Amino acid sequence: MKLVFIGPPGVGKGTYASAISKIYGVPHISTGDIFREEIKKGTDLGKRIRSFVEKGELVPDEIVIETIRKRLSQDDCKKGFILDGFPRTLEQAKALDEIVVLDLVLEFVAPDDVIIKRISGRRICSKCGAIYHVVFNPPKVSGVCDKCGAPLIQRDDDKPEVVRHRLEIYKKRFAPIIDYYMKKGILVKVDARELADKVVPKIVEVLKKYGFYPEKGSS
Ligand code: AMP
Repeated sequence: MKLVFIGPPGVGKGTYASAISKIYGVPHISTGDIFREEIKKGTDLGKRIRSFVEKGELVPDEIVIETIRKRLSQDDCKKGFILDGFPRTLEQAKALDEIVVLDLVLEFVAPDDVIIKRISGRRICSKCGAIYHVVFNPPKVSGVCDKCGAPLIQRDDDKPEVVRHRLEIYKKRFAPIIDYYMKKGILVKVDARELADKVVPKIVEVLKKYGFYPEKGSS
């Protein structure tokens, strides 16, 4: 089951990928996570990519493609994988086709206002980093962390005007990639307006339609 998950920031893609990874017993591969780990460990790769990641710029295609090529050659990918955060350019999508034959690309879609509401309600503890949501996961006392009592803050990145801007960048960047997979006939759109507990079963239903069934013992 070789899958790519695509979707705008805040749509819940990472959450879905990690849930589906557990249900199907295939690795969830996030290039962002790989890069952050390499930077933390201070590896050669980490040193090469650090400045790009810190500035929020795209890491050059040849580095990202080589990283993915190595990762997909590992044993745990034999049964399949879920790619999250890759491809991010048309060049990466084309290079991926030279490495593997994908089964499906799931594109998670939700109206901008739903995403903006979801992200802009997010609050983070200024001390311990615990994450809350003013509607979906509120703290017991408004504006105060349940765990350590410190004030909750809103990250600049989560402010509505910033989210709106990130959504515009996403649309521009991904339009050619979505078009590429649509023309190949492997793109499936998944409605992600609801919360993860509703979306994950929907993804499983889509995957079953294409002949992919959960591992025995999982839901
Ligand atoms: P993410 O966690 O997916 O937002 O990724 C964090 C950062 O890693 C991005 O802002 C980029 O600097 C880098 N990155 C992750 N995936 C890619 C990719 N496919 N192509 C280029 N840069 C990437």
